[in-house]
This record gives sequence, structure tokens and C-alpha cells, in this order.
Amino acid sequence: MATNVCKLSKFSLESCLFTSPLGLINVSACSQGLHSMGLEEDLTDANFSPKEITDVQVLGKKSQDLSEIMETCHEWLQHYFTDLKNLSRVPSPDICAFKQKELAFRVKVWKTLKETVHPGEVITYGDLAKRLNNPGAVRAVGSAMRNNPTGIIVPCHRVVRANDMGLYSGGTRQSVKVWLLRHEGIDKYTMPEP
Ligand SMILES: [Zn+2]
Repeated sequence: MATNVCKLSKFSLESCLFTSPLGLINVSACSQGLHSMGLEEDLTDANFSPKEITDVQVLGKKSQDLSEIMETCHEWLQHYFTDLKNLSRVPSPDICAFKQKELAFRVKVWKTLKETVHPGEVITYGDLAKRLNNPGAVRAVGSAMRNNPTGIIVPCHRVVRANDMGLYSGGTRQSVKVWLLRHEGIDKYTMPEP
């Protein structure tokens, strides 16, 4: 039971699977906001095969049965993948961890990234540390990126190194990072060699 309850809100956690060009996206949330958003676990550069889609679908649930947070999430993903230019017109789902009174540094990193680095923009690890008024915290910023439970919506794919794209998912999903950045109009990074 304990694993199905949010430690912060004490509300129950639910999960949903959404289709996307990159594969299935698993989202978990309590009524206060998202807990996680992630691509299928076995997705790597070796088996990456993006597909064109016209619609983000929810698997196993009718749209009208979605909770409010999952409804918001669905609409956001729909716009992100199929109507990016209008993404700013739809509400961004809340993140449960952002609603605590005291935010741990890595939560502040996720929050600042989500709120200040928009589609089509990138930021270096160093500049993100500076934006948090902590220019010496580059390694902590890197650690926050590696431990980001809510990918895409907290856009760790927009965090790059000064001289190259930097790693995604520990370097196992470079194709996904290139795809997301190209999707947002940044085409200077190249797909990894097969
Ligand atoms: Zn929660």
C-alpha cells in the first residue's frame, strides 16, 4: 500500500500510459501533481525508432475518465508532440515535489529549468547553476539532471555542455535528446553513430 500513496499529500498515486512518437510514456501522479514521467525502460540508442503520430492517446482508459491532473498532462503531451507552437497556451501540469515548503537544491534546479528554459532554448549546466545563484554548483546541477524523475516536462534535454550536447540518461539515450531538440527546432546536434 505505502508505495501507492504520495508521501507529501497522502493522496493515492495513479499512473497512466500515453503514446508518443518516442514510444510509450509512463506518468504517475497524485492529485497535487506529477511524480514521474518517463519513456519505456528498455529504450536505448540501439533500439530507438521514432514514429510519426497525429494524436497522443491514453492506453487503457477513456479520456473522459481521466483525473484532472492526467487530463492536464494529456493535453500538454498532445500539444508538445503534435502542436508545439501552441504549447504555451495550455496549462503545464503541476509537479508534486514543487509544492513543498522547503525545496531541496535539486528540486529547485528542476523548478528553475521548467519555468525558465522554454522549447527551442538550451542552457549550459554552468548557466543553470548561475541562474540558481549558485555558480559553483555545476556538479550538483548535473546530478539533478541525472536524477530527474519527470523528463520532457522538466526539460533536462535542454541542458547542454558548452562544447557539445552533453549526456542524456547517462549517455544511453543520446538519440532521444537529439530528437527532442530537433523537434523544438535546434538541429545543430547529430544522432549518435549506430
Ligand atoms: Zn504527490
